[in-house]
Amino acid sequence: MKVPLLDLKPQYRSLKKELDEALIKVAESQYFILGPEVDEMEKEFAQFLGAKYALGVSSGTDALLLSLMALGIGEGDEVIVPTYSFFATAGVVARLNAKPVLADCEPVTMNIDPNDIEHRITKKTKAIIPVHLYGQSADMDAIMKIARKHNLYVIEDGAQAISAQYKDGRAVGTIGDFGCYSFFPSKNLGCFGDGGLIVTNNDKIEHIARIMRVHGGEPKYYHHVIGGNFRIDALQAAVLRVKLPHLNSWSQKRRENAAVYKNAFIAHGLAEETGKVKFDSKNKVLLPKAVFENSGHTNHHIYNQYIIRVEKRDELRAFLAKNEIASEIYYPVPFHLQKCFDYLGYKKGDFPNAEFAADKSLALPIFPELTDEQIEFVVEKIAEFVKK
Ligand SMILES: *Cc1c(COP(=O)(O)O)cnc(C)c1O
Repeated sequence: MKVPLLDLKPQYRSLKKELDEALIKVAESQYFILGPEVDEMEKEFAQFLGAKYALGVSSGTDALLLSLMALGIGEGDEVIVPTYSFFATAGVVARLNAKPVLADCEPVTMNIDPNDIEHRITKKTKAIIPVHLYGQSADMDAIMKIARKHNLYVIEDGAQAISAQYKDGRAVGTIGDFGCYSFFPSKNLGCFGDGGLIVTNNDKIEHIARIMRVHGGEPKYYHHVIGGNFRIDALQAAVLRVKLPHLNSWSQKRRENAAVYKNAFIAHGLAEETGKVKFDSKNKVLLPKAVFENSGHTNHHIYNQYIIRVEKRDELRAFLAKNEIASEIYYPVPFHLQKCFDYLGYKKGDFPNAEFAADKSLALPIFPELTDEQIEFVVEKIAEFVKK
C-alpha cells in the first residue's frame, strides 16, 4: 500500500468547481495584485481568526520579515527565537542584521521553553518569536508575561498553526503584537503558490506594516520608511477564500487521524500514552501530545504535522520508504548547529531538548484524506521494524 506524506489532489478534486471559477473570475477581472479579492480575503481572515486587522503578504517568511521591519528591528537588536524550528524563524532576524538569540524547546510539545527565555534577555533584546510548532500553541501566558515585564514585542510564528487555538480559545497569532501565517501549499491551509498573512490588533503597527508591504511610500512615492514588495496576489486570495470555510473540518479530520495513530500505536504495544519524553520497554515510540486537549476548545491542535520520536529514526525512515510509506524529518539540524550561524558561538550540547528532537523526530502522513487502513498499515510497518 502506497502512503504519501501529503496528497493535495483529493482536496482539489473536492473543491474543483469553486476553485476553477474563482481563478477564472480573477482572470476576467485582470486585477492581479492586491485589490478587491485581497481586501475581501483580509476581512474574512480577520473575522475568522478574531483579529482586528489581517494583511495578505507574499509568504510566511515575508510575514515574519515585514513584522520585524514594521517594529523597527535591525542592526544591534537581539531577538529570542527557538533553536528548533523551520529556518525562516531565525533567518529573517539575521537578514535584518539583528542577532538571533536561541532558546531550547520543552520536551513534550517541542515549542520554545519559556523557562529558557528570561536569562537570555539583555539591554539589546527587542522581541521574542515563539513558534506554534506542528500546529499547537506555545505557552503564550508565560511568554507574554516575560515580554510585558521586559517591554519586548512578541511576533507569533503561526506558519504551521493557522486556526489552532490557545487554551483560552484565542486563535494563535492573535495574542502577541503580530501573528504570522504561511499558505505554502503543504501547510494545513495552502494556496496555489506562495502566500502569507499577518494579523494584529494594534492600529499603529498595522498601518506601518501596510505601507511597508508596498515599499513604504505614504503617500505613494513619498517615503519616510523603506519597505519592500511583500504583496500577495489576487489568484492566491481567491483560492484561500474558497478554502477557508473548510479549514475547521480539515483540522477535525487531522485530529481524528491522530487519534487513529495513537490507538494503533498503543494496540501494537509500542506506546502507553501520548506525551512521554523518554524511551523504555513500553514506549519504543514517543507520541505527540495535544497539551490543551481538555481546554474545551475544538482546535486545540490542528496537527499540521504528526511527529513521533523513535530511537533508530533514520533506519526506520529508510525501512518505511522501502515499503512505499513516505515520512519526513522536521528538522534534522537545530539553528545552533547550522553552519551559517557559527558566528553566534553556540556548540553541540547547548540545547539538549532540541538536539533530542532533531535526532529522533519523524513526521508521518496525517493529511485529512488519509484512510484508517493507510494509518494502520504505517503503524504495522513501524511495529515490524521496532520489534525486529
Ligand atoms: C513554513 C514556515 C515558515 C515560512 O513560510 P513560507 O510561506 O514557506 O515562507 C516560517 N516558519 C515556520 C515555522 C514554517 O513552518
